[in-house]
Amino acid sequence: MPDAVPPPLSMADAQRAVTAELNRIAPVIDDLGERFAQAGHELALVGGPVRDAMLGRQHNDLDFTTSARPEQTEALLKGWADAIWDMGRAFGTIGCRKGEWQVEITTYRSEAYDPDSRKPTVDFGDSLAGDLGRRDFTVNAMAVRVPGRELEDPYGGVVDLAERVLRTPGRPEDSFSDDPLRMMRAARFAAQLGFGVDPAVVAAMTAMAARIEIISAERVRDELVKLVCAPYPRVGLRLLVDTGLAALVLPELPALALERDEHHRHKDVYEHTLTVLEQAIDLEPRLPGGGPDFVTRFAALMHDVGKPRTRRFVDDGTVTFHHHDVVGAKMTRKRMKALRFSNDETDAVAKLVELHLRFHGYGTGEWTDSAVRRYVRDAADQLERLHVVTRADCTTRNQRKADRLRRTYDDLEERIARLSEQEELDSIRPDLDGNQIMEILGIGPGREVGEAYRHLLELRMDRGPMSEAEARDALLEWAAGRG
Ligand code: ATP
Ligand code: MG
Repeated sequence: MPDAVPPPLSMADAQRAVTAELNRIAPVIDDLGERFAQAGHELALVGGPVRDAMLGRQHNDLDFTTSARPEQTEALLKGWADAIWDMGRAFGTIGCRKGEWQVEITTYRSEAYDPDSRKPTVDFGDSLAGDLGRRDFTVNAMAVRVPGRELEDPYGGVVDLAERVLRTPGRPEDSFSDDPLRMMRAARFAAQLGFGVDPAVVAAMTAMAARIEIISAERVRDELVKLVCAPYPRVGLRLLVDTGLAALVLPELPALALERDEHHRHKDVYEHTLTVLEQAIDLEPRLPGGGPDFVTRFAALMHDVGKPRTRRFVDDGTVTFHHHDVVGAKMTRKRMKALRFSNDETDAVAKLVELHLRFHGYGTGEWTDSAVRRYVRDAADQLERLHVVTRADCTTRNQRKADRLRRTYDDLEERIARLSEQEELDSIRPDLDGNQIMEILGIGPGREVGEAYRHLLELRMDRGPMSEAEARDALLEWAAGRG
């Protein structure tokens, strides 16, 4: 499947789109531009909002750059904004809200980077051109001065936008040496915008990939999350793999490109994985929150990472990947921990990886009700996502086989719905609680109460709900059987 990207854009379209967007945000830019100009300061809309305006996308988050120092910006915002915040003051940024608009105003910067440190040292600059020159890509290095609305585009961002290509304002080697995170950002914007990447940028990324190691795991993670949640993740992931960046930040992904054995006994797991990811994205509307859903997407990406390690060639000419689900879940945990993901996100993704194969034991519907209940219990709060990941994990070219799998999964979901109606499956508890167990058996707290509880839970799984009297009988029977 080719990497899907949007059609090219004409310069005239870009011009029209930006005019329309500037008119829409006129209440903010005219007013604010006037205020800064009267105080003798320059102000310009910059970066994402300018780029996205040309692409016909609306923003209510407006980024500006200014000659004013943060305290001057703050003074000018007082009496205009509804609320002001200054967490970014050390980096020159003052933020505010005005009605439905979120505004961030950053003083011109001319950053000096220490090549071996993880953080830029901030130096304020004195010109818009200088500020634009230190930005990551030409399409992000455009500004519209306000209130006059003159476009500043010293690096040819408009042309690159029309040609849909990411280029750096200066030499890419210098840019990535100043801030290696920009290599991740190249992949992220490729995935968000569906743009191509200038060959010189790709070459620099390939040559300098190792420099990514000086960037903190958190910053790498944030770019990776944006990439995975973008409309064209396949484009960005491919770029990470082809440049060698993925080998450093997500090595499980390039490892999926298994060399084939001479008999071609298995599918290309890497291509399969990218397709599963895209199919999962297509199924996101089934999720309660719609999409984009990072956990679902990342689980789709990681579902087979256990395969390379578990591959065995069998004498009868087949290949097996026994326990790649369990091994893959462990590898997923390890990677997400290294990337400093939260425990909740890590647990969720690892659970989906671990359970992604379970449905294949369902055959053509042979599961007992008990097996269905266990599926629901084990998936717990990840059930909806598990439906999506499992459905997406079918990339056969055999249409009849694909249809059959889909119908079988429909059948499983119907059975879950029926059972859940009968039993409120979501809150499965034994029919007796600990106090009742102690009372019936005439025992105090201890190990036996726990064992009895688990026994009743198993019974409930197998048989469905029991009345209190039935549960009481079952408990006594169990106790008698133990002597
Ligand atoms: P988004 O819609 O995702 O917010 P954005 O373009 O606003 O896209 P941000 O990460 O918010 O992206 O950055 C805002 C702007 O700041 C960018 O457009 C770019 O001009 C500049 N920028 C941000 N990070 C860097 C960086 N590491 N190096 C150079 N320029 C950067
Ligand atoms: Mg932004």
